[in-house]
Amino acid sequence: MSYLIKGETADWELVIGLEIHAQVISNSKLFSGSATAFGAAPNSHVSLVDAAMPGMLPVINKHCIEQAVKTGLGLNAQINLHSVFERKNYFYADLPQGYQISQFLHPIVGEGKLVLDMEDGSVREIGIERLHMEQDAGKSIHDKDPRRTFIDLNRAGVCLMEIVSHPEMRSPEEAGAYVRKVRSIVRYLETCDGNMEEGSMRADVNVSVRKVGETDLRTRTETKNVNSVRFMMQAIEYEAQRQVEVWESGGAVDQETRLFDPDSGETRAMRSKEYAHDYRYFPDPDLLPIELTEAFIDAIREQMPELPDQKKKRFMRDLGLSAYDADVLVGERETADYFEVVAQGRDAKAAANWVISNLFGALKAAEKDITSSPVSAEHLGRLLDLIADDTISGRIAKDVFEIMFATGQDPVLIVEEKGLRQITDTGAIEAAVDQAIADNPDQAEEVRQGNAKAIGWFVGQVMQKTQGKANPQAVNKLLRDKLSS
Ligand code: MN
Repeated sequence: MSYLIKGETADWELVIGLEIHAQVISNSKLFSGSATAFGAAPNSHVSLVDAAMPGMLPVINKHCIEQAVKTGLGLNAQINLHSVFERKNYFYADLPQGYQISQFLHPIVGEGKLVLDMEDGSVREIGIERLHMEQDAGKSIHDKDPRRTFIDLNRAGVCLMEIVSHPEMRSPEEAGAYVRKVRSIVRYLETCDGNMEEGSMRADVNVSVRKVGETDLRTRTETKNVNSVRFMMQAIEYEAQRQVEVWESGGAVDQETRLFDPDSGETRAMRSKEYAHDYRYFPDPDLLPIELTEAFIDAIREQMPELPDQKKKRFMRDLGLSAYDADVLVGERETADYFEVVAQGRDAKAAANWVISNLFGALKAAEKDITSSPVSAEHLGRLLDLIADDTISGRIAKDVFEIMFATGQDPVLIVEEKGLRQITDTGAIEAAVDQAIADNPDQAEEVRQGNAKAIGWFVGQVMQKTQGKANPQAVNKLLRDKLSS
């Protein structure tokens, strides 16, 4: 699955690296006791530490460290026993300290790797360079007043994990799959809610291009704060095309920070990109290095939930699901949990089919997700039981499902109330079969002459007479018996 950009002089390939900022799920901030709840009145969650009043001292939030370690373990990464908070100096109006407390030389998490299952069935492994902890800045609001900018410090000091990949992705699809996988893992771990629309997860996208066969990296640009997977893929495609055109026309790509505009689908230059040395990093004298013990890490390791990769393997191995079905079902923890309730003690493949085809289809059409599904997992399981014990046919089950989706009712109730129980009484089916044969002597003769298609036609006739409630296997067998000679 190679992604190439055709230039005038050569074919070009993409080199993509991602920095994901993920907001840690924690009731309070990284260095203060202020609340982190989203949507509060401006400046209502700001302590003296967050407002950077002189003489205030940061106090580390242990829970945030646990969350970062947990995420590191989920990314199959090295956990560093020794890590250091440093000051990253820069001026932002919404950063009252004049520096961001971050980690630089000694991050809490080192090298890791992520496995991507691509849609075409291929598997890609992407290296993770590091995960470090840092505080978020506040928010500047420019659209409330024609002349003034307002500042909301509620977000200032909230704990972020910055997850940095190696530049190993080669197409917009891979970058999309990478972000979705990171999001899936942090959601399973409950270390970040992964909500990109609310900004609790956002991606900085580093893109460069090079001629196929080149081994050195060319200059990259960084597109900041992209807040959806789709926008990120668009931004990458745009940047790839733009950079190839710059190089091909004899120019040079500038190292710069760019912004993606979702309306135009384009990126534009924001500022020339700083280099690490511009920030004058130095260890924060107000904070001691973090020294972790193996016992601390082991205790977190013991609480790790089953992650999507492991779950997928188990679904394939123990339940006999295809790689595709398993992959679709494990993407979101809620979906996997739902499926497991439906499949419990039942035919897992049938359960997977109903969840993936029927339920997902209906949810999508209704613009709902699994957590707001009108059909509970228990009810869907009961519907499968009704099919399995021949109370209803697969055909009728689809109608029952529609009613379940519209009303949230129990399928057992629907089948009773609407009289949809399959006719298993052979006498009643036989009467309908005899009637159909008597009514259609010509077609009956065709079957006797050996026209197999005509049998199907007769099945249809009988099903119609019984409003679809006759057991199709029984109908088929009776027809064959009666028309065999
Ligand atoms: Mn950062």
